[in-house]
Amino acid sequence: MRVAIAGAGLAGLSCAKYLSDAGHIPIVLEARDVLGGKVAAWQDADGDWYETGLHIFFGAYRNMRRLFAELNIEDRLQWKSHSMIFNQKDNPGTYSRFDFPDIPAPFNGVAAILGNNDMLTWPEKISFGLGLVPAMLRGQSYVEECDQYSWTEWLRLHNIPERVNDEVFIAMAKALNFIDPDEISSTVVLTALNRFLQESDGSKMAFLDGNPPQRLCQPIVDHITARGGEVHLDAPLREISLAEDGRVEGFRIGGIKGQEGRTITADAYVSALPVDPLKLLLPEAWKQLAYFSKLDGLNGVPVINIHLWFDRKLTAIDHLLFSRSPLLSVYADMSNTCREYEDSDHSMLELVFAPAKDWIGRSDDDIVAATLEELKRLFPQHFTGENQATLRKAIVVKTPLSVYKTVPGCQALRPDQTSPIANFFLAGDYTMQRYLASMEGAVLSGRLCAEAIGVAQSTGAIAASIATGSAAAAGLAPV
Ligand SMILES: Cc1cc2nc3c(=O)[nH]c(=O)nc-3n(C[C@H](O)[C@H](O)[C@H](O)COP(=O)(O)OP(=O)(O)OC[C@H]3O[C@@H](n4cnc5c(N)ncnc54)[C@H](O)[C@@H]3O)c2cc1C
Repeated sequence: MRVAIAGAGLAGLSCAKYLSDAGHIPIVLEARDVLGGKVAAWQDADGDWYETGLHIFFGAYRNMRRLFAELNIEDRLQWKSHSMIFNQKDNPGTYSRFDFPDIPAPFNGVAAILGNNDMLTWPEKISFGLGLVPAMLRGQSYVEECDQYSWTEWLRLHNIPERVNDEVFIAMAKALNFIDPDEISSTVVLTALNRFLQESDGSKMAFLDGNPPQRLCQPIVDHITARGGEVHLDAPLREISLAEDGRVEGFRIGGIKGQEGRTITADAYVSALPVDPLKLLLPEAWKQLAYFSKLDGLNGVPVINIHLWFDRKLTAIDHLLFSRSPLLSVYADMSNTCREYEDSDHSMLELVFAPAKDWIGRSDDDIVAATLEELKRLFPQHFTGENQATLRKAIVVKTPLSVYKTVPGCQALRPDQTSPIANFFLAGDYTMQRYLASMEGAVLSGRLCAEAIGVAQSTGAIAASIATGSAAAAGLAPV
């Protein structure tokens, strides 16, 4: 069976990979000239890489780890010490650590929390621990019910002091969805905490050993093409063409860079686009269907990823850091954390700037200047007094509509991978799966989508109209 998939982010590539494993022929059509979507990266004139986002892999990412194992690239995940490291707000330049001992969950998490006395007082730890009991006992059903509350509301309901937000959860909400605890759904935070408390290595973090398009996406493409599938860049989906019976009869691909526009036909069709561009492409006839109309409530959140190259080493820390500063979320010195970006003499900081709604329209110079102001607090020894660190180069990557904004009520709006249209399916981190908007969610959504297509084929739901001719034959250049 031929399956046309629009979008070569992790969801589209994962869907194509699992379809090809099942003996089908996926044809992946990506609008841009780079693989990876929100994990895309580019090289500047000096050969330095810059990325859409600083990306962390967690031990709890079972589907992602399975994918790495299946591609035989597990050695590309650089696992760090089992810790969470926060900048100290009142003590610039110092850190507070949660260190998880090597004992089973949830005891390692409890020990990590009890062992940290910098951030939370004992009464705060106890009230917070009691608040988490329902989540631990009732699991996912409780976590889903809590989607009616923001994280700040959830804390209030459990009489947990607001200070716990200031100390820990502003940083965590910004890391999870680039927004503050007043906005983020408590389901998001509880989902993460639940995984961390139930899986011994759930909160352990890894960095990819290099740029994601080559080190993660390309092996997936190689796997797909070795099994007869195709992956095409510069192939934007412009229109979902419908047959008279309401099914999809083709993906109309735009003609860019001198190429002619084309229609790709297949037996089944997948949108692995982010939710925002998908909404713009929905055929008029579909907009009345609740499955599609509820997508109106899912909207991408802005975020900015900043890369700063310095004339010296600012830190030796080989880990993710939670900045706990007003404009920044998490950051890392990639010259320590990532093999391909390694530099023993100079730091390259990659920093996530969030919430970004008031900054996404500002100039790169303004954003870099504001970031440098915050770095004075994070690295006072290098940005005050004589012999201060010098910024050699900065690159700012803005994503005005990134992952969907996980405000309360969104869980009910997230669509299943199987749509009401018999030969049309959805993949993407916003589609329903238990990992929310993340790389893990994207990979899992792709596999669930491939499975849904297999089920639809076996039940005869997908018409037996076997399409002929490959995308390459239709004039598209393969990757
Ligand atoms: C700054 C930042 C930091 C992040 N940090 C983390 C992290 O630490 N850990 C984590 O797990 N997740 C993180 N994420 C989230 C993670 O990157 C995403 O959840 C995931 O990559 C989304 O994958 P996707 O395939 O669903 O969507 P996307 O990656 O958005 O892929 C969609 C693809 O569709 C393509 N497309 C769009 N329109 C068309 C069209 N008309 N025709 C054809 N193709 C089209 C796009 O170009 C893109 O390639 C981060 C995201 C950002 C932005």
